[in-house]
Amino acid sequence: MEVTLQNLTKIYPGRGRKRQEEVTALKDVSFRIPDGQLIGLLGPSGCGKSTTLHLLSGLQKPTSGRIFFGADDVTDLPPQKRGIGLVFQNYALYPHLSVMQNILFPLQNLKGKEKLTKALMSEKAYEAAKLVQIEDLMDRKPGELSGGQQQRVAIARALVKRPKVLLLDEPLSNLDARLRLQTREEIKRIQRETKITTIFVTHDQEEAMSISDQIVVMKEGIVQQIGQPQEVYDDPCNLFVAKFLGTPSVNLLEGQLRAHSLYIGGESVLSVPDTEETREVCVGIRPEGFVLQAQGALHCELCSVEVMGRDNSVVSAHPASLMPKLRSIISAEQKVETKNPVVSFDLKPSKTYLFDKETEKRIPIKLQTRSQV
Ligand code: ADP
Ligand code: MG
Repeated sequence: MEVTLQNLTKIYPGRGRKRQEEVTALKDVSFRIPDGQLIGLLGPSGCGKSTTLHLLSGLQKPTSGRIFFGADDVTDLPPQKRGIGLVFQNYALYPHLSVMQNILFPLQNLKGKEKLTKALMSEKAYEAAKLVQIEDLMDRKPGELSGGQQQRVAIARALVKRPKVLLLDEPLSNLDARLRLQTREEIKRIQRETKITTIFVTHDQEEAMSISDQIVVMKEGIVQQIGQPQEVYDDPCNLFVAKFLGTPSVNLLEGQLRAHSLYIGGESVLSVPDTEETREVCVGIRPEGFVLQAQGALHCELCSVEVMGRDNSVVSAHPASLMPKLRSIISAEQKVETKNPVVSFDLKPSKTYLFDKETEKRIPIKLQTRSQV
């Protein structure tokens, strides 16, 4: 089912005598989710992710804007008529019901023509349980399950009616690190098998990048960028997106464009053939954008080398840096001379970004290595 969000705005009214201020949780949010895709909705806490899901589910009404499932405008439909499955961070299972009864619950509420026989309900419940691999736990109570198993029950319950759209709100946040990894792979598998259009909300960039066909990056109720994870990582449209994606995070330095070159602290580090401009810029360099090079253009003070096995993380400092330390990732095969107080790098043009210092928007100018001039 294709899902379209069209100019969605949500304003929560102010409450109480002292806190009269209203909150604009979403501002003119528009995007389209192709049928069968898994979309990661990504952004820091409070950016409007849950509000977006609440509007899609029908639990809340937008202040303005429309929502379409396929060609149908569902903006005014109540949640039970939208054909959605919902999973939250806190599994919200009924503690006194067995796993089987929890999964059956949405089916038992069907009325009139939709009503199912007991046998058919049980068949569907088993089918959903098998999909998330908990069919052996059907008689247990939620309290007798691990966090990961409880979340699987919640997913099975959301899937049992074969929803047209599956909405997952930070479904892995309550799980420990290992389970989180495993369960996210499970969710990916289930989504591939069922081909249900899915929106996966998370504040964890790695989670969103690893699981999504496309990510939607949000900040303060406004969509910043939409695209395939790798595209958005490689080509961030502004400083916020560049900083939000990637660990270690992008390195930021003061730079200057002049005489067809990018200067960092008086050193010409890359050539900029397509502009005559002279201006101050903010330079973002991905950790993997540094190339260890004895004759490199950027000279940094070497602080430490952290061994990570496959790679080394070289920690250094530079007077033009906007961060306490620069972090570069260098293949372990390349030796870093730790006795030397200075480490020199060349920069990869494709991993180096320029941002406007005022607007923080990406400056769309081509960068080249100096040798290409
Ligand atoms: P996220 O899920 O990304 O953390 P939310 O969508 O929950 O963000 O919240 C977005 C903004 O709207 C926040 O500033 C939050 O405080 C506010 N907000 C959310 N729900 C309500 C509500 N029911 N009433 C008033 N403000 C709300
Ligand atoms: Mg939330």
